[in-house]
Amino acid sequence: MLRAIYPGSFDPVTLGHIDIIKRSYDIVDELIVGVLNNNAKMPLFSVEERVRMLKEATNALPGIRVIPFEGLLVDFARQMEAGLVIRGLRAITDFEYELQMSQTNHKLEPSVETMFLTANVEYSYLSSSTVKEIAAFGGDTSQFVPEAVSLAFNQKKKESNKDE
Ligand code: ADP
Repeated sequence: MLRAIYPGSFDPVTLGHIDIIKRSYDIVDELIVGVLNNNAKMPLFSVEERVRMLKEATNALPGIRVIPFEGLLVDFARQMEAGLVIRGLRAITDFEYELQMSQTNHKLEPSVETMFLTANVEYSYLSSSTVKEIAAFGGDTSQFVPEAVSLAFNQKKKESNKDE
Protein backbone atom coordinates (compact mmCIF):
# COMPACT_ATOMS: atom_id res chain seq x y z
CA MET A 1 0.00 0.00 0.00
CA LEU A 2 1.50 3.30 -1.12
CA ARG A 3 0.68 6.24 1.13
CA ALA A 4 1.99 9.62 -0.01
CA ILE A 5 2.16 13.16 1.31
CA TYR A 6 1.88 16.21 -0.92
CA PRO A 7 3.24 18.96 1.32
CA GLY A 8 3.16 22.71 0.77
CA SER A 9 2.18 26.11 2.08
CA PHE A 10 -0.85 26.33 -0.24
CA ASP A 11 -1.20 30.05 0.53
CA PRO A 12 -3.61 29.78 -1.26
CA VAL A 13 -4.18 26.57 -3.21
CA THR A 14 -4.17 27.18 -6.99
CA LEU A 15 -5.39 25.10 -9.94
CA GLY A 16 -1.75 24.07 -10.45
CA HIS A 17 -1.75 22.44 -7.00
CA ILE A 18 -5.13 20.82 -7.70
CA ASP A 19 -3.74 19.33 -10.91
CA ILE A 20 -0.82 17.74 -8.99
CA ILE A 21 -3.28 16.45 -6.34
CA LYS A 22 -5.52 14.80 -8.97
CA ARG A 23 -2.63 13.21 -10.82
CA SER A 24 -1.02 11.92 -7.59
CA TYR A 25 -4.38 10.57 -6.48
CA ASP A 26 -4.43 8.36 -9.59
CA ILE A 27 -0.95 6.99 -8.82
CA VAL A 28 -0.92 6.29 -5.09
CA ASP A 29 -3.27 4.34 -2.82
CA GLU A 30 -3.66 7.05 -0.19
CA LEU A 31 -2.93 10.75 -0.45
CA ILE A 32 -2.41 13.18 2.41
CA VAL A 33 -2.15 16.88 1.58
CA GLY A 34 0.10 18.34 4.30
CA VAL A 35 -0.42 22.04 4.96
CA LEU A 36 2.63 23.70 6.48
CA ASN A 37 1.84 25.81 9.51
CA ASN A 38 4.80 28.17 9.50
CA ASN A 39 4.14 31.70 10.69
CA ALA A 40 7.69 32.73 9.76
CA LYS A 41 6.48 32.64 6.14
CA MET A 42 3.84 35.26 7.09
CA PRO A 43 0.99 33.60 5.20
CA LEU A 44 -1.93 35.65 3.88
CA PHE A 45 -4.38 32.92 4.90
CA SER A 46 -4.29 31.21 8.30
CA VAL A 47 -3.55 27.48 8.33
CA GLU A 48 -7.23 26.83 9.20
CA GLU A 49 -8.37 28.81 6.14
CA ARG A 50 -5.86 27.05 3.89
CA VAL A 51 -7.00 23.62 5.14
CA ARG A 52 -10.67 24.54 4.68
CA MET A 53 -10.17 25.77 1.10
CA LEU A 54 -8.18 22.64 0.19
CA LYS A 55 -10.87 20.41 1.70
CA GLU A 56 -13.58 22.21 -0.28
CA ALA A 57 -11.57 22.00 -3.49
CA THR A 58 -10.86 18.26 -3.11
CA ASN A 59 -14.13 17.02 -1.61
CA ALA A 60 -15.02 15.23 -4.85
CA LEU A 61 -11.98 12.98 -4.39
CA PRO A 62 -12.89 10.48 -1.67
CA GLY A 63 -10.17 9.40 0.70
CA ILE A 64 -7.92 12.44 0.40
CA ARG A 65 -6.94 13.79 3.78
CA VAL A 66 -5.92 17.42 4.31
CA ILE A 67 -3.85 17.74 7.49
CA PRO A 68 -1.88 20.71 8.90
CA PHE A 69 1.64 20.09 10.18
CA GLU A 70 4.51 21.94 11.84
CA GLY A 71 8.20 21.20 11.97
CA LEU A 72 10.14 18.76 9.82
CA LEU A 73 8.44 17.09 6.88
CA VAL A 74 10.21 13.79 7.62
CA ASP A 75 8.74 13.77 11.15
CA PHE A 76 5.27 14.34 9.69
CA ALA A 77 5.89 11.53 7.16
CA ARG A 78 6.95 9.18 9.97
CA GLN A 79 3.92 10.12 12.03
CA MET A 80 1.59 9.47 9.07
CA GLU A 81 3.49 6.29 8.10
CA ALA A 82 3.95 7.65 4.58
CA GLY A 83 6.93 6.51 2.51
CA LEU A 84 6.56 8.96 -0.36
CA VAL A 85 6.63 12.74 -0.71
CA ILE A 86 5.23 14.31 -3.86
CA ARG A 87 6.32 17.72 -5.13
CA GLY A 88 5.60 19.62 -8.32
CA LEU A 89 8.22 21.05 -10.67
CA ARG A 90 7.24 24.04 -12.78
CA ALA A 91 10.55 25.17 -14.21
CA ILE A 92 14.29 24.94 -13.74
CA THR A 93 13.96 27.66 -11.06
CA ASP A 94 12.08 25.17 -8.83
CA PHE A 95 14.65 22.45 -9.41
CA GLU A 96 17.58 23.63 -7.30
CA TYR A 97 15.53 24.14 -4.14
CA GLU A 98 13.53 20.93 -4.63
CA LEU A 99 16.68 18.86 -5.22
CA GLN A 100 18.26 20.21 -2.05
CA MET A 101 15.12 19.55 0.00
CA SER A 102 14.65 16.01 -1.28
CA GLN A 103 18.30 15.11 -0.69
CA THR A 104 18.20 16.61 2.82
CA ASN A 105 15.00 14.73 3.63
CA HIS A 106 16.52 11.51 2.33
CA LYS A 107 19.55 12.00 4.61
CA LEU A 108 17.29 12.65 7.60
CA GLU A 109 15.01 9.70 6.82
CA PRO A 110 16.30 7.25 4.17
CA SER A 111 12.97 5.43 4.03
CA VAL A 112 11.22 8.51 2.64
CA GLU A 113 11.50 9.01 -1.13
CA THR A 114 10.50 12.14 -3.07
CA MET A 115 8.71 11.91 -6.39
CA PHE A 116 8.37 14.89 -8.73
CA LEU A 117 5.50 15.51 -11.10
CA THR A 118 6.14 18.08 -13.79
CA ALA A 119 3.58 20.85 -13.96
CA ASN A 120 0.84 20.65 -16.52
CA VAL A 121 1.75 23.17 -19.28
CA GLU A 122 -1.60 24.82 -18.67
CA TYR A 123 -0.52 25.78 -15.13
CA SER A 124 3.26 25.90 -15.29
CA TYR A 125 3.29 29.72 -14.99
CA LEU A 126 0.99 29.71 -11.96
CA SER A 127 2.07 30.37 -8.38
CA SER A 128 0.35 31.34 -5.14
CA SER A 129 2.39 34.59 -5.04
CA THR A 130 1.19 35.67 -8.50
CA VAL A 131 -2.40 34.97 -7.52
CA LYS A 132 -2.00 37.02 -4.30
CA GLU A 133 -0.55 39.89 -6.32
CA ILE A 134 -3.51 39.86 -8.75
CA ALA A 135 -5.93 39.88 -5.81
CA ALA A 136 -4.03 42.67 -4.02
CA PHE A 137 -4.58 44.92 -7.04
CA GLY A 138 -8.27 44.03 -7.23
CA GLY A 139 -7.95 41.63 -10.20
CA ASP A 140 -10.16 38.60 -10.84
CA THR A 141 -8.45 35.38 -9.69
CA SER A 142 -11.25 32.97 -10.62
CA GLN A 143 -9.46 31.40 -13.62
CA PHE A 144 -6.42 30.53 -11.48
CA VAL A 145 -7.86 29.13 -8.25
CA PRO A 146 -10.68 26.88 -7.00
CA GLU A 147 -13.97 28.62 -6.24
CA ALA A 148 -13.45 28.50 -2.46
CA VAL A 149 -10.30 30.62 -2.89
CA SER A 150 -11.79 33.28 -5.17
CA LEU A 151 -14.70 33.59 -2.71
CA ALA A 152 -12.20 34.03 0.13
CA PHE A 153 -10.38 36.77 -1.83
CA ASN A 154 -13.71 38.53 -2.47
CA GLN A 155 -14.51 38.31 1.24
CA LYS A 156 -11.12 39.81 2.17
CA LYS A 157 -11.71 42.62 -0.34
CA LYS A 158 -15.12 43.39 1.20
CA GLU A 159 -13.62 43.45 4.69
CA SER A 160 -10.80 45.80 3.66
CA ASN A 161 -13.28 48.14 1.87
CA LYS A 162 -15.29 48.31 5.11
CA ASP A 163 -12.16 49.21 7.12
CA GLU A 164 -11.31 52.14 4.81
P1 ADP B 1 6.07 25.66 -0.92
O1 ADP B 1 5.73 24.28 -0.50
O2 ADP B 1 7.47 25.74 -1.47
O3 ADP B 1 5.73 26.71 0.10
P2 ADP B 1 3.68 25.77 -2.58
O4 ADP B 1 2.80 25.54 -1.41
O5 ADP B 1 3.25 26.88 -3.49
O6 ADP B 1 5.18 26.01 -2.22
O7 ADP B 1 3.73 24.48 -3.50
C1 ADP B 1 3.73 23.15 -3.05
C2 ADP B 1 4.28 22.27 -4.16
O8 ADP B 1 3.48 22.42 -5.35
C3 ADP B 1 5.71 22.59 -4.60
O9 ADP B 1 6.34 21.38 -4.95
C4 ADP B 1 5.53 23.45 -5.83
O10 ADP B 1 6.64 23.37 -6.71
C5 ADP B 1 4.30 22.82 -6.45
N1 ADP B 1 3.55 23.77 -7.28
C6 ADP B 1 3.24 25.06 -7.00
N2 ADP B 1 2.55 25.63 -8.02
C7 ADP B 1 2.43 24.67 -8.97
C8 ADP B 1 1.87 24.63 -10.31
N3 ADP B 1 1.30 25.70 -10.84
N4 ADP B 1 1.95 23.47 -11.00
C9 ADP B 1 2.57 22.39 -10.46
N5 ADP B 1 3.14 22.36 -9.24
C10 ADP B 1 3.08 23.48 -8.51
